[in-house]
Amino acid sequence: MSGATAGWFDSREMFIDGAWRMPAETLPLEDPSTGGQIGAIARGGAGDIDAAVAAARAAQTGEWGRATAAERGRVLMRIGEMVRARVDELARLEAIDVGKPLTQARNDAIALARYMEFYGGAADKLMGETIPYLDGYTVYTLREPRGVTAHIVPWNYPMQIIGRSVGGALAAGNATVLKPAEEACLTALAFARIAGEAGLPAGALNVVPGLGEEAGAVLSAHPGIDHISFTGSLPVGRAVQRAAGENVVPVTLELGGKSPQVVFEDADLDAALPFLVNAGIQNAGQTCSAASRILIHRARFDEVAGRMAERYATLRVGPALRDLEVGPLISARQREIVEGYIRRGADLDLLAQGRIAEDAPTGGHYVAPRLLSGAAPGHVLAQEEIFGPVQMLLPFESEDEAVAIANGTGLGLVAAVWTGDGARQMRLARRLRAGQVFVNNYGAGGGVELPFGGVGKSGHGREKGFEALYSFTRLKTVACLHG
Ligand code: NAD
Repeated sequence: MSGATAGWFDSREMFIDGAWRMPAETLPLEDPSTGGQIGAIARGGAGDIDAAVAAARAAQTGEWGRATAAERGRVLMRIGEMVRARVDELARLEAIDVGKPLTQARNDAIALARYMEFYGGAADKLMGETIPYLDGYTVYTLREPRGVTAHIVPWNYPMQIIGRSVGGALAAGNATVLKPAEEACLTALAFARIAGEAGLPAGALNVVPGLGEEAGAVLSAHPGIDHISFTGSLPVGRAVQRAAGENVVPVTLELGGKSPQVVFEDADLDAALPFLVNAGIQNAGQTCSAASRILIHRARFDEVAGRMAERYATLRVGPALRDLEVGPLISARQREIVEGYIRRGADLDLLAQGRIAEDAPTGGHYVAPRLLSGAAPGHVLAQEEIFGPVQMLLPFESEDEAVAIANGTGLGLVAAVWTGDGARQMRLARRLRAGQVFVNNYGAGGGVELPFGGVGKSGHGREKGFEALYSFTRLKTVACLHG
């Protein structure tokens, strides 16, 4: 067991039907800041997933399913309060597990609390409608929970993604099975512990850590599941959607991005600058909505590039608990992927680079942030999600060219436009192909209240905000002929 979790929960256990269970096998738990093994986690298998799905079904047809919307809301609010009370502990767990600098991990813990508050408050405001129909009829719609929902989440923002996905599903009256990523599942387990203490009935939330190709694949193909919320990579998203197709269940896919921020010649650069850089290096660039492409009007290209480069030169990289601007990547594998992209960009212009702290442990998965330019929009580094601290600057001459470059990757998660021209703001908000468009600001991953999701290969369906509750329910139409 990890020292980090001592006295709170045992990191090797799974949470099924309101109880902690030891798995048959375990997987190593690594600290990305040192590369050292600090404990073990469960390697959940098919039997564990079966038990979790059965427990969820029993909860959904039992105590949790019968709870009123207001009661569900109160439980979620209580979870939110208890998360708030343990923000520092949760942040520390996430920092150790993900390698996320402490301040950023703390923001994620606060976001988890906010999701519980938001969905707790929303639970009893989810309503149907009455529909005008033929003479003598009253027609109305009911929003019913889907039943048992599966939640497969990645390692980069465990708390935020659990909050938005499990929070929305519970608010709508579903019972849930959560499969956290094998690289980072400590806060999922901590969340289960808190939810149980807050009075969430047994079976309403089950957490089964394990490998994607084992526990994840079994869960996404499970006939007892009524909806899948998947957040992760495109290849796995495709596999999950195929599995869901076999059982004819709906799936929400939250996949990757290559999000652009578009800086016009009249942009307020002082306001833009922190957003331009931070949205690229936050969580060491391992953010689905990272602003990995900065499109800059040619008239101000050198100025923007110069000021971003100044900022890059001050960036320091080190262990998560030192709380510098940038932490390590999640794993040696992820570092190899990112370094592979950097090698493929060796012919590009390296405008500036951050610095790895001299005392950073040699086993940690550190990559110095890179600011690059000189790529054609079709270059692999300007097209593919790198998922590391690498930003690409691309010049443009006209609004049409900016839109063509911004929309030219097949991905479409988030975009931003920086301009003082109100008409251009309105036009670009419509023309940019993305699930969210920010005007004169940027919120990578932010906004509990704001519906979020992809276009094209970034996925489909929406989470966050009230909109998510529609995905986690199904609509029933009731037509009464009373004369
Ligand atoms: P991943 O697809 O490798 O893994 C995500 C989850 O799927 C993990 O829990 C993993 O165990 C599980 N999984 C792996 N193989 C599986 C299989 N065959 N069947 C079922 N489940 C399986 O992704 P990752 O590397 O953990 O995360 C990075 C990716 O996630 C990036 O592409 C990133 O952009 C994306 N992401 C998207 C969002 C969003 O909201 N759109 C948010 C965060 C991350």
